[in-house]
Amino acid sequence: MSEKKHIVIVGAGPGGLCAGMLLSRRGFNVTIFDKNSEVGGRNRPIRLGEFVFDTGPTFLLMKHVLDDMFALCGRRSGDYLHFIKLDPMYRLLFSDRAVNVYSDRDKMREELAQAFPEGSAGYDVYLKQEGERFAKLYPCIKRDFSSLKAFFSLDLLRALPSLALNHSVFSNLGKYFKEEKLRLVFSFQSKYLGMSPWDCPAMFTMLSYLEHEYGIYHVQGGLNKIAAAMAQVITEQGGVIRNNTAVASLIIEDKIAKGVRLQDGSVIAADVVIVNADFAYAMTQLVQPDELKQYSPEKLEKLDYSCSTFMLYLGLDTCYDLPHHTIAFAEDYTTNISNIFHNKVLSKDFSFYVQNACVSDHTLAPAGKSALYVLVPMPNNDSHLDWPAICAEKREQVLDVLEARLGLTGIRGHIECEKIITPQTWEMEEYVFKGATFSLSHKFSQLLYWRPHNQFQELGQCYLVGGGTHPGSGLPTIYESAHISAQLICRKHGVNFGLES
Ligand SMILES: Cc1cc2nc3c(=O)[nH]c(=O)nc-3n(C[C@H](O)[C@H](O)[C@H](O)COP(=O)(O)OP(=O)(O)OC[C@H]3O[C@@H](n4cnc5c(N)ncnc54)[C@H](O)[C@@H]3O)c2cc1C
Repeated sequence: MSEKKHIVIVGAGPGGLCAGMLLSRRGFNVTIFDKNSEVGGRNRPIRLGEFVFDTGPTFLLMKHVLDDMFALCGRRSGDYLHFIKLDPMYRLLFSDRAVNVYSDRDKMREELAQAFPEGSAGYDVYLKQEGERFAKLYPCIKRDFSSLKAFFSLDLLRALPSLALNHSVFSNLGKYFKEEKLRLVFSFQSKYLGMSPWDCPAMFTMLSYLEHEYGIYHVQGGLNKIAAAMAQVITEQGGVIRNNTAVASLIIEDKIAKGVRLQDGSVIAADVVIVNADFAYAMTQLVQPDELKQYSPEKLEKLDYSCSTFMLYLGLDTCYDLPHHTIAFAEDYTTNISNIFHNKVLSKDFSFYVQNACVSDHTLAPAGKSALYVLVPMPNNDSHLDWPAICAEKREQVLDVLEARLGLTGIRGHIECEKIITPQTWEMEEYVFKGATFSLSHKFSQLLYWRPHNQFQELGQCYLVGGGTHPGSGLPTIYESAHISAQLICRKHGVNFGLES
């Protein structure tokens, strides 16, 4: 590069940080703006006194993708982060049985045989066939779909039969398992995308496959340490991160992004603008309403979005005997799912997830105490639920259910401090459109070429990273979005990306 190009990144979430890390390594002059006082976005820490919680992500899947991003910066992730592999990965609680889910295959076979005496023989075929499907799909996850030319690729042609377009994750699992609860063991992961297993495209059966193939990891100190480590790498490479600095708008001239205007009125010029802020929020709040056609406010309103979540972070003066991760299914799971995704109403009988990381990580709370993270999937804000009015009652219901289903007797008496995030908080304070915490839905018509492009189709010099662009939500795919956008920017500016150019 004859002169250093200036790249401005709006948002220091996982996507923005990963892009910043890759591009500052390649000689670009990177400045990241984030409205929050700490980096990480939904992957940043929540600190309550002596307790630390992850705001969002608690499962690290496909650790090798993260390792690759550090390697692309000439670094080893292990020099910055202490990874803890979890096996059992998690415990699933149904109304009539519990299942510990292992990535160790022998242990998993044994557990399935015990929990599902009705028959679980399909496990080995599932691993084999979903492994083959993933091998065909992965090249499509890693590639750009920003143009029709890129879309009609050999990779996609090869993967087409593996997309199983007429199947959902749940129906696809019928090939291997007949029993509904057994299918749920391998399909509830659709919730990682904020989708129902009955609606989520079959290709996402890869989510459970990936857990079983590669295992899942915790990071000591919480997954927020990944964001902090990426920020450190950016700074080491000369990039600048400006926290507590909100971007008020993108500066656009003749459909080309020229920089950003900060909330204090100052203007920052840029050769490239990368948007990491939630896609639909950014396009409705940072861009004038008449600037976009395909993603105008009216069209964004009509797209499909993920569910939301009700979050309870509890600093407890005790550490319960609970696994690191527990997922409890509502007794009537299908009704709970319909209420979240279709009827958009609350359920009395609801599914929930609890992280009790103190059993593997002593750094999150003082000795003998624990930081308990509770997530309850909820309808997104299309529900028009009045969260300030119902929040307190929901909290009581969640505490009741923790007592009743997990045996956390007397939990109320152990709470030293707490924080709640509702779907409304996600929207108003975290700037997440409709409070849809897992972004645009991952239905097929909103994937690949049909998801907002990494090289944003509506604005020149503007690229997208994060859950709202290709390949989609979840840390590894978000890192891949940064990887794809960084490669496109390097190509455009004649910079050799390096290992993968
Ligand atoms: C509750 C929850 C649990 C999750 N669990 C997992 C999990 O276990 N594993 C997993 O892989 N994924 C998980 N995810 C999904 C996903 O990994 C995270 O949501 C991830 O943080 C999204 O990253 P992102 O790059 O899209 O941006 P975000 O994390 O949304 O970051 C965007 C950033 O942009 C900033 N911003 C927005 N507007 C402006 C502005 N105007 N000016 C300046 N800055 C701005 C925000 O402050 C924020 O820092 C979870 C998500 C949630 C919400």
